Amino acid sequence: MEEKQKKLEEIAKKVATCQKCALYKNATKAVPGEGNPDAEIMFIGEGPGYYEDQEGRPFVGQAGKLLDELLQLIKLPRKDVFIGNVVKHRPPGNRDPLPEEIKACEPYLDEQIKIINPEIIATLGRFSMAKFLPGEYISQIHGQKRNIDFGGRKYIVIPMYHPAAALRNAKIMKELKEDFQKISKLVASQ
Ligand code: URA
Repeated sequence: MEEKQKKLEEIAKKVATCQKCALYKNATKAVPGEGNPDAEIMFIGEGPGYYEDQEGRPFVGQAGKLLDELLQLIKLPRKDVFIGNVVKHRPPGNRDPLPEEIKACEPYLDEQIKIINPEIIATLGRFSMAKFLPGEYISQIHGQKRNIDFGGRKYIVIPMYHPAAALRNAKIMKELKEDFQKISKLVASQ
């Protein structure tokens, strides 16, 4: 645990001073991700929004409040999971991250996954899904678990809608809640 924590802190330090893409120029704070170094499940979002950029923590704005509620719904304490993002600095105006930004940030996320080595990766939104399941459509495969090989290891990936999408659309909200029940079963079965 302590060894893993130290390695994660080293990544966070590198992220804090990262200039591998231009996103750092407009950002207030880097958001490396946070949570349990021994997490059985990792949630991976897209990138920091306004409040995350202010606080340097993932999912603390409106989408984060919904994520907290969804975790409570399935009695999975936030402190037990790890929450990260595909890009660690906020894209200006919350625009989609660009392919070169995702690529520049990729080694940090890959390293975090390797250190934590979770059983399950829950992707939040299409950018994080595309990392593991390229060419798929979230509307078709959300809530379905997939076994993947990634970096020479096996993981279960479960693609989820992004909580921000659920806040805009009641049907997606309903499906996201149902998909979280599937996460609950998956965690219990590991
Ligand atoms: N949306 C994301 O994708 N990540 C965050 O950290 C916050 C909102």
